[in-house]
Amino acid sequence: MRILLSNDDGIYAPGILAMYDALDGLGEVDVVAPETVQSGGSHAITIRHPVLWRSVRVGDRFRGTSVEGTPADCVKLAINALLPHKPDLVVSGINAGLNTGIHVLYSGTVAAAIEGAILGCPAVAVSFELYRDMDFVAAGRIARRVIERIAEDGFRAGTVYNVNIPELKPGIPLGIRVARQSTSAMDERIERRSDPYGREYYWLTGDFKNIGEELSTDRHAIREGYVCVTPLHFDLSDRGLMERMGDWKWPKST
Ligand code: MN
Repeated sequence: MRILLSNDDGIYAPGILAMYDALDGLGEVDVVAPETVQSGGSHAITIRHPVLWRSVRVGDRFRGTSVEGTPADCVKLAINALLPHKPDLVVSGINAGLNTGIHVLYSGTVAAAIEGAILGCPAVAVSFELYRDMDFVAAGRIARRVIERIAEDGFRAGTVYNVNIPELKPGIPLGIRVARQSTSAMDERIERRSDPYGREYYWLTGDFKNIGEELSTDRHAIREGYVCVTPLHFDLSDRGLMERMGDWKWPKST
């Protein structure tokens, strides 16, 4: 099996190294990842500038391709130009920080996986709750088990599994749960500050709103101490609304 490994934290991030090690023995792993941190960059692609790439050695562990572009650029380039064969699986991560709820829409980690799926590969995004002294090696072992379970079902082209791992503590995770994506908004905080020259700037920050009784979502599963797996569609069509619109009368367009 050939696996394409990418991420949005950059090729030198600890998470991608842990994921590389965790995939050991599962297949041949090709790493194509951004040169610099691309978190929060979502599904951006580079079309107005050249996309430079070079072969790099990461520590003494692997040689990969570093791309001066976005996560989606990396996957596009890997599948369409750099790799001799289409990968059997695309893995993105391990991201430092969860990608649950609407963060899925801002996530470069998820975007890399989705790009793989658009190009006809099965794909898995792996994200890990941000905390002090994150144990990426343990998170990698968990991600490996999830990927092996998905493999039992068979890797299907175009499928995206979004995997989130909670902070690891004694007894946590309690298990693995399949849950839908939460859609609740963030409590945005936009801080206004000034720089040493007195120029004002804004800093975007914020937390998720308290999810309260919002059950059976990814965020709820994580809060309860479970690893959460959410299968994703990249077809954003609202099928229910489409059906209702089916018998609408439209004004003549000419
Ligand atoms: Mn990231």
